[in-house]
Amino acid sequence: MSAIAAEAVTGETTARPVVGVLALQGDVAEHLRAVDLSGARPLPVRRLAELEAVDGLIIPGGESTTIWKLLSIFELADPLRGRIAAGMPVYGSCAGMILLAGRLVDHAGDQETLGAIDMTVRRNAFGRQLDSFERDIAMRGVGDEPFHAVFIRAPWVEEAGPFVEILATEPGTGKIVAVRQGRALATAFHPELTQDNRVHKIFVDMVRERS
Ligand code: GLN
Repeated sequence: MSAIAAEAVTGETTARPVVGVLALQGDVAEHLRAVDLSGARPLPVRRLAELEAVDGLIIPGGESTTIWKLLSIFELADPLRGRIAAGMPVYGSCAGMILLAGRLVDHAGDQETLGAIDMTVRRNAFGRQLDSFERDIAMRGVGDEPFHAVFIRAPWVEEAGPFVEILATEPGTGKIVAVRQGRALATAFHPELTQDNRVHKIFVDMVRERS
């Protein structure tokens, strides 16, 4: 039973849903902190029982090929696909965006994806010169204040399907860097590396709506 369901049974508040952070590789601690500051209860997810206990899941930035390998080794890929198909909200930042994609332009080896968003993603898209950079960008849903976006060997969305809502583009290239489709959210940048929790708050609201 999820924590939300447990609370419903005991009649307690459902205001703090459990938001998991996939903790196989990547910047897990930063996401856990941002979840906590965004009004949800953070839970690192490494095992099936933990995956089953969360109301929503964040896939962190890191190295998507490594995260994919570990998902397979830990036998979490299929259960995760199942929970996404059943409507669990998911949010992926950077490597997490790559993992949520339906298609990759230049996937490495036998790297697969979870197919949560109808989009084609290009890995390491900004190229060498712009390997890592920071830029204030406008983003739908976070209010008028620009979001300070940190890009680290970031992907971009090469092509988005008709039901994908485009939340932000990178001003220098015009490329799509934040999207939402239904209960899946993805950013090419890393809000968890800043003190600005507005993107995490959007996700926690998505989890609350679902719960
Ligand atoms: N380039 C990385 C990958 O392909 C993602 C980088 C990141 O998450 N900062 O997984």
